[in-house]
Amino acid sequence: MTHVDGNVLAGTLSEIFEQDMTTAAGECAGCGHTAELAVALVYLSGAGTVVRCSTCGDVLFTIIDVDGHPRINLSGVALLRMP
Ligand SMILES: [Zn+2]
Repeated sequence: MTHVDGNVLAGTLSEIFEQDMTTAAGECAGCGHTAELAVALVYLSGAGTVVRCSTCGDVLFTIIDVDGHPRINLSGVALLRMP
């Protein structure tokens, strides 16, 4: 499956966090690598969005839409440092 970079998340994440999150730094719970969300690997599909670590490929977080409202599961992020 083809992916795009984390910059595609700008609109959706700004709805949830009410600020630009592409420069937020996320620590991968799988490998411990920390990087800006802009460099994450993003897989878009009709079922939702899967964001993977650019180093190890583990899932950082997923975003789904429920009745027009985004829901995010951040279970793969050990630490999120806001911009
Ligand atoms: Zn990782």
